[in-house]
Amino acid sequence: MQYTWNDIEQHIAVCTQCPLGQTRNLPVMGRGSRQAEIMLIAEAPGGQEDQQGIPFVGRSGEVLDRLLQDCGLRREEIYITNIIKCHPPGNRDPKEEEKEACFPYLKYETYLLKPRIIVCLGRVAAQRIISPDYKITRQHGTWVCRKNCVLTAVYHPSAILRDPPKYEEAKRDFCEIVRKRDELCR
Ligand code: SF4
Repeated sequence: MQYTWNDIEQHIAVCTQCPLGQTRNLPVMGRGSRQAEIMLIAEAPGGQEDQQGIPFVGRSGEVLDRLLQDCGLRREEIYITNIIKCHPPGNRDPKEEEKEACFPYLKYETYLLKPRIIVCLGRVAAQRIISPDYKITRQHGTWVCRKNCVLTAVYHPSAILRDPPKYEEAKRDFCEIVRKRDELCR
């Protein structure tokens, strides 16, 4: 069956495919341009996102917006989503069964968007999307080619909040992402 963006949104809005469907406040669907060349994927919505139903609001969102702005990118020209769409209580890492239950939504988002560049935000996303043994401190900013796109990973904005010197490394990675976008798409 061929799903549309609206179909995915409607399914996520009432989804109880895993226990997080019982504890979330609002599910958080991906946001941004549906013509974007760059897709950002993080692990899971945080507490603020759970309240507002929007990815990357609050302090992590401010860090992300600063990084984008410093590299000449705007949120409106990228697409941002999470591996799981509901907030795990206490901000714990998503469980394997939750990631598996939710993964079809991410697959549909990716299928509909057809990004040229996928950027994993943080270790959990990189280990699910790029490689199970991905080491974010060693490998961030490196590129992996897949059939129709290239992938990389950068520090998660919340990791930058905990360790501010990581900001400059993340900024370099984002600027390289912009350069790669220009090389592939312009
Ligand atoms: S995390 Fe995903 S699979 Fe689990 S209830 Fe939310 S939308 Fe459904």
